[in-house]
Amino acid sequence: MTTTPDITLRSRLTTDCELHLPGDPGYDTARLAWNLAVAQRPAAVALPRTPEEVADVVRAAADAGLRVAPQTTGHGAAALGEQDLDDVVLVKLAALTGATVDPTARTARVLGGTQWQEVVEAAAPYGLTALHGSAPDVGVAGYLLGGGLSFYGRSHGVAVNSVRAAEVVTADGALVRASATENADLFWAVRGGGGNLGVVVALEIDLLPYAEVYAGMLLWDRERAPEVLPAWVEWSRTAPESATTSLRVMSFPPLPELPPFLSGRDLIIIDGAILETDADADAVLAPLRALGPEMDTFARVPAAALTQVHMDPPVPSPAVADHSVLGPLDDEAVATLLAQVGPGTRSGLMFAELRHLGGAFARPAAGGGVLASIAGDYALLCLAMAPTPEAVVAGKAAAFSVVRAMAPWAQASLVPTFAETRVDASRFYGDEEWERLLRIRAEVDPHRVFVANHAL
Ligand SMILES: Cc1cc2nc3c(=O)[nH]c(=O)nc-3n(C[C@H](O)[C@H](O)[C@H](O)COP(=O)(O)OP(=O)(O)OC[C@H]3O[C@@H](n4cnc5c(N)ncnc54)[C@H](O)[C@@H]3O)c2cc1C
Repeated sequence: MTTTPDITLRSRLTTDCELHLPGDPGYDTARLAWNLAVAQRPAAVALPRTPEEVADVVRAAADAGLRVAPQTTGHGAAALGEQDLDDVVLVKLAALTGATVDPTARTARVLGGTQWQEVVEAAAPYGLTALHGSAPDVGVAGYLLGGGLSFYGRSHGVAVNSVRAAEVVTADGALVRASATENADLFWAVRGGGGNLGVVVALEIDLLPYAEVYAGMLLWDRERAPEVLPAWVEWSRTAPESATTSLRVMSFPPLPELPPFLSGRDLIIIDGAILETDADADAVLAPLRALGPEMDTFARVPAAALTQVHMDPPVPSPAVADHSVLGPLDDEAVATLLAQVGPGTRSGLMFAELRHLGGAFARPAAGGGVLASIAGDYALLCLAMAPTPEAVVAGKAAAFSVVRAMAPWAQASLVPTFAETRVDASRFYGDEEWERLLRIRAEVDPHRVFVANHAL
């Protein structure tokens, strides 16, 4: 779609939805993404507070010949920032937040701009939690609509399968409910098709019955990587589905705000959650603990504390990353990864991460949507901090270099929430699912009003 930005957008609104156009004093703050390395410059930024304001903005934008990009936090903004946004209204959902728990049904209704920590804290008093990801401040909608890899995932599957219903503002500005029994095609497509189908203003999700969870991390100096990496890979081959873990080789700059065990250090860290009794979890972890970690925080903790285990940055940060999905890793794969990021190397990355997949991740849920399962053994994510334009270029090259080295073990598929750069979106889905997704998209958004970070 090629259109000229229409500066009459404001006059087309029938609500007093907050709107910032280029040149407005608030525009530069409003367009900021959580990922500060992304310089998104849309035609306008809207900050709706209600579903009605969302519908108003979508209608006004479509009338003005503009497109609409839904965004919650901008954690996943990198692939959007690579697109031409001259004719795009960025609809930031940050003011549309809230989570209401129904403890009897074990569900939550979550507004479209809510971050995970709010849901986790709302569920905790009832002894419940959710299939959230590693970070407390990732948006529920952006994460779920891209699949969602949780530390509960090898037991409970791709997080989007927990969505029971979605309330969506569609391209014509209508607010519709999509569930197994209402607008079933849209419901199927939005569960993995992300912001390509509409603006999600609320989600109804299933919760998990965990008040506490056995979770934590094991940490070694990177010098130990030649023992720890192959041991974890070997362990992960037979680890029970109750264990979902990640292994990261990490490098931290010397910074006063970091705790001494991280500041200025190169480390190898295994973390995650094990849905077992303490005794059984200890038995599962025993082969890794036998490697004598310098720090071992695995213990039974309140489920709400699981969002802290991965130590994700607590504030907006500039980062670039690359990703692939790997199959089984043999000795050569382990040696290749060590040659890239092991002792003595200077990869330029903050981390190279392997998230253990398999188990319920690989099993399509009955009645699931377009992304009901994720195949593969490990999701590889290579990330570099990128505070300057030069660091963006260097970081992208560093991340790409490790992903390329691991290509002999990579599958064709990718995970939407881990894919930072623009990729061929068909790689997220099976062939039949991709065709059906395109058909449904053409029906619900024939003029291609919506643009997602991973545009179809
Ligand atoms: C520190 C960190 C930790 C992470 N941990 C994990 C993890 O453990 N597991 C995992 O799977 N992923 C993880 N991610 C990736 C994260 O899940 C994705 O980047 C996700 O897309 C972020 O969602 P968001 O809404 O916060 O980001 P945004 O950039 O706001 O959204 C990403 C995309 O989602 C869509 N979208 C967002 N909100 C809406 C809405 N209301 N309606 C319609 N479409 C919408 C849009 O297409 C948008 O471009 C992590 C990312 C970071 C930076």
